[in-house]
Amino acid sequence: PPVVAVVGRPNVGKSTLVNRIIGRRQAVVEDVPGVTRDRVFYEAEWNGRPFTVADTGGWEYGVKGLAGKVAEQAERAVQRADAVLFVVDATVGITATDEAIVTMLRKANKPITLVANKADGQSHEADAAMLWGLGFGYPWPVSALHGRGTADLLDALLEELPEESAYKDVLTARGPRRVALVGRPNVGKSSLLNSLAGSARAVVDDTAGTTRDPVDELIELDGDIWEFIDTAGIRRRQHMASGSDYYASLRTRAALERAEVAVVLLEASQPLSEQDVRIIQIVLDTGRALVLAFNKWDLLDEDRRLDLEREVDLDLQHVSWAPRINISAKTGWHKNRLVPALETSLDSWETRIPTGKLNSFIGELVAAHPHPVRGGKQPRILFATQSSTRPPKFVLFTTGFLDPGYRRFIINRLRQYFGFEGSPIELTMRVRE
Ligand code: GDP
Repeated sequence: PPVVAVVGRPNVGKSTLVNRIIGRRQAVVEDVPGVTRDRVFYEAEWNGRPFTVADTGGWEYGVKGLAGKVAEQAERAVQRADAVLFVVDATVGITATDEAIVTMLRKANKPITLVANKADGQSHEADAAMLWGLGFGYPWPVSALHGRGTADLLDALLEELPEESAYKDVLTARGPRRVALVGRPNVGKSSLLNSLAGSARAVVDDTAGTTRDPVDELIELDGDIWEFIDTAGIRRRQHMASGSDYYASLRTRAALERAEVAVVLLEASQPLSEQDVRIIQIVLDTGRALVLAFNKWDLLDEDRRLDLEREVDLDLQHVSWAPRINISAKTGWHKNRLVPALETSLDSWETRIPTGKLNSFIGELVAAHPHPVRGGKQPRILFATQSSTRPPKFVLFTTGFLDPGYRRFIINRLRQYFGFEGSPIELTMRVRE
């Protein structure tokens, strides 16, 4: 079914409206300051037509840059929606936070239905006129609380709504993003998991009837649902004797196979170990997106910090493209950096460069830096294409083998130009003799 994103600043009555639409007889959920709700999907129906409602979260007041953050969160929801219900408070009019959303919506190019909520009791004609001025059409007067006006609103909404969603895969096939939290014993995996799960509401249902391995956990973070793989293995404190490394790495590999992105937890306060490097290698072998998280940052002193920088430069140079975050699972410091890093890596992992763009890039690169001549021959690159994503793989059609050094050069330039932060990329050749 098509997806309707319900967006608006805190306190305009989004949840009340959502509850109205989905016809739930339950206590009104308030946008209570300090309670961070996140985006949740509900199945709804009007005049026999099913659709999905994506409810966006509330926000803590006093958050710095609140307007921007609300707009950002709304934007994420809008990007994956077929139509938008933009809810404003008719008794208040347009605030600065509303303005931020308005700016975002103007760019979004989605059908927008404007809801003038809390239009109960007295008329608010002056405000209604102002709402007209937004350019989102008729401001439908609604009292979500009393249910007044919602029928007309839904009729209007359905007219804007396509029969089928353009985002089916996002909601059903793909589902929540799958994360594997890996790292050597005692690095803080279960502490981080507890810290993340503790700050967010764990999600249990509402996700499209998929059966799910009970060893995995769904956690809402920052407006999205994330599935943490094999948390049972993380939470069960295994005090296994040495020699269990083999089984640990099997388990890590199995978790990675089911994940899309890996968070490799490293211990900032202790030297990098061979095991750390091995775990990173397993991630690279499986081709997953990668985030490096240095934990126990609270234990760091200045000397160790300098050593750490050196170790990272030396031992982690081959993954210098991965986002690196410094955290303390114990204090919760910087744990909010995790989701942006995960998103960066996953975006890169799924990036597809259009063939035309890729070839003009390669063309210019080769013109400026031709392949060295070897034995009187100079292999030429005839054509480049990206053969797949997750992770991005590129194929070069050439007239001869490219030097490994030249291949590395191309990979580096691909990264410099297109980014791919947090994703491995692969480059292969098809040589036409
Ligand atoms: P796991 O084996 O990777 O799951 O590691 P745990 O989460 O069980 O953590 C191992 C130990 O490190 C526990 O005693 C934690 O309290 C401690 N720990 C975890 N994260 C931090 C942190 O950020 N700072 C400090 N000081 N200790 C931590």
